[in-house]
Amino acid sequence: MDEFSLIKKYFADLNSTPIDGSVKLGIGDDAAIIRPANGEDLLITTDTLINAVHFPDKTPPRAIAYKSLAVNLSDIAAMAGTARWFTLALSLPEPDQNWLKEFSAGLFELANMFHVQLVGGDTTRGPLSITISVIGTVSKGGSVRRSTAQVGDRIFITGEPGLAKLGLSTVNKEIELPEKEKMRCLDKLNYPQPRLQEGVFLRDYASSMIDVSDGLAADLAHIADASACSAVLLAQALAEFNPESHSLTANMAIDAVLYGGDDYELLFTVPTDKCEEMEQAWSAAFSNLSCIGEITAGKGVFLQERAGELRKITAAGYNHFHV
Ligand code: ADP
Ligand code: MG
Repeated sequence: MDEFSLIKKYFADLNSTPIDGSVKLGIGDDAAIIRPANGEDLLITTDTLINAVHFPDKTPPRAIAYKSLAVNLSDIAAMAGTARWFTLALSLPEPDQNWLKEFSAGLFELANMFHVQLVGGDTTRGPLSITISVIGTVSKGGSVRRSTAQVGDRIFITGEPGLAKLGLSTVNKEIELPEKEKMRCLDKLNYPQPRLQEGVFLRDYASSMIDVSDGLAADLAHIADASACSAVLLAQALAEFNPESHSLTANMAIDAVLYGGDDYELLFTVPTDKCEEMEQAWSAAFSNLSCIGEITAGKGVFLQERAGELRKITAAGYNHFHV
């Protein structure tokens, strides 16, 4: 199968998200033509996933595709934007038809769920790697940055941070979990749910926002550093996560919450006078939201133990060039 029939069969022909008029030209020419509406800011993000670095060897192709798109959608969510279009640069060791079929099924499953349209890409032979770029929109000036947290703001996180890390630890045979819990953690690892609707909702409330890819401690440090503030996490609030923890030591459970990457939850801050309204409106629309701490004056991220003492936490999130 040549490159062009491969692109047609697995990508162009399966690209069924209805066109909303913004795509003047999609796959097939030298570049796509997109016409955003007046008054929209564009949000542009790229992430590469490499075999055995970002996903374990032998990850099902459906999960590889799903996750490659999900991590990019999560970045758009963290800016409070709407994901609209994406490109896919795929490097493949060989054109394995079964692999491609499952890969494109996983890709379009998620793309259709969030109405984001594939508008182009590149297909090459080489070690397995997937680069996706997503373009999103947000009303002019309406996006939420990581650099605008204020002293006194409360810190919130969606979902259950730490589960993806537990999933990875079971794959690597570092821990064992009961079957049902293991499946739940693997699902979080392989099929992260981008919090796009939540991100748009938070436009009216969040003073700053980031998605958790490197780990809660590391990504909170990004908010704190960019906002020139400090952040204090409450150990008691973090202990609420991970019902799986009964089969782990307390330290392993808290480590998964603080340092486990790949959660793709939204981590954000809200001014205290907006918290009550936000939490009420949140529970009418979504579930799983936790207040886990507060932004304070100073520098760095701290954990406040139950007894009250503060412990500085080093932000040891995943870092590709760590020495
Ligand atoms: P060019 O040589 O002009 O860069 P290509 O031969 O790389 O064009 O690609 C032909 C068309 O197919 C382009 O419109 C490109 O965007 C699209 N395309 C290539 N690979 C993919 C892919 N994996 N997914 C979606 N579209 C793709
Ligand atoms: Mg090309």
